[in-house]
Amino acid sequence: MVTHAHYDHVGSIKALKRAFPDALIVAHKIEAGNLRAGLSPLPRGTMWFSRPISWLGCQIFHHCVRFDGFEVDIEVEDNLKMQFGSTEIEFFCTSGHTAGSLCARVGEQAVFAGDSVFHVLPGCFYPPFADFPEYIVAAWQRIAATGAGMIYPGHGRPFSLNNFIANNGRF
Ligand SMILES: [Zn+2]
Repeated sequence: MVTHAHYDHVGSIKALKRAFPDALIVAHKIEAGNLRAGLSPLPRGTMWFSRPISWLGCQIFHHCVRFDGFEVDIEVEDNLKMQFGSTEIEFFCTSGHTAGSLCARVGEQAVFAGDSVFHVLPGCFYPPFADFPEYIVAAWQRIAATGAGMIYPGHGRPFSLNNFIANNGRF
């Protein structure tokens, strides 16, 4: 699964596909065009330190960073469930960090959340970059609604859903 079309999450995918040609690449339909073209739009900063980083990046890279583009095999619109042996994997859209951010729930145990949640600073889960920050809380509600035990963020260490909810009483 490709969680979203940002260069720091997709740089090796073309090489991985070459090494494992039977592997299917899953991504949200909205991100597929940028993944194919190898375009990584730079997101807006959401915090005091990330706003100038975003501004500077946009000046230097003209709002977009390039990577090796690749084809998406399965485009998810909003929600897709697949069965792998006895384990169900559910892909679901969590717009906010990008319009087509995608998460995957693996059984009842885990959600791979991409950049919809960060965990670089202890107890802080808010992404420092997001195109639609107004949707982040709704994205978190969707992740929490899965009831999965552990959440694996795009950056930083995994944490339990209970820890996530306890630190974010507002959602
Ligand atoms: Zn990102």
